[in-house]
Amino acid sequence: MLENYLVYLQLIDEKLNKFFTKQKPFIYCKKGCGLCCKNAQFPYSQIELEYLMIGVRQLDEEKKSIISKNINKLKQQKAEHQGKDFKYDCPFLINNECSVYNYRGIICRSFGLLNISAKGKIRVPFCCFQGLNYSNVMDDCGTKISEEKYRKLNVEEEPLAFNTSYEFLTDPDFATGFHFDFNEKKPLINWFIEEDNKEEIRHIISMKQAS
Ligand code: SF4
Ligand code: SF4
Repeated sequence: MLENYLVYLQLIDEKLNKFFTKQKPFIYCKKGCGLCCKNAQFPYSQIELEYLMIGVRQLDEEKKSIISKNINKLKQQKAEHQGKDFKYDCPFLINNECSVYNYRGIICRSFGLLNISAKGKIRVPFCCFQGLNYSNVMDDCGTKISEEKYRKLNVEEEPLAFNTSYEFLTDPDFATGFHFDFNEKKPLINWFIEEDNKEEIRHIISMKQAS
């Protein structure tokens, strides 16, 4: 199952890398940015979580301990939170860098591009409003490309929107075609709250935590 998911993931990675390369003049992503790893919900399917946990297993004890502390803090915050849309900083973000980068989920790989919904609506990554991705070509980071800004850039590449929504990339039909199953999807932190009876997750949560 996981092997088949990895074949699919490789295909997605190749496609996304091509898209990011095509959009290079409008992309500001760099190591240590980490803004998109904060204040969000991070949908994860069961198979993505399983793969992420392989990455966690390989971390040193200090990093595991930091993650454990982060998760336990979030569990507490979520319990106190009223309402469904609990947003949080990803517990795997350490010093603004992803501690499980090679094992990260699909949403983590696709975020940052201009996105087009099934209904044809263009979605701009939020970091455009922070002067980052596409801010050099969008009109006030709305859905309109500024002709003036684009001309000033003097680049051959055009800003393009791709169908890279999480819903699309985790469509069960793709999984069937590659002989695996995404299974249940939920916000990343929920896996650690609702599934903490699973041995591996329980182990991370109950680790001696970094002070
Ligand atoms: S997508 Fe935006 S917030 Fe995320 S790393 Fe790239 S520039 Fe930073
Ligand atoms: S898993 Fe890594 S890339 Fe994904 S949100 Fe967390 S820190 Fe960011």
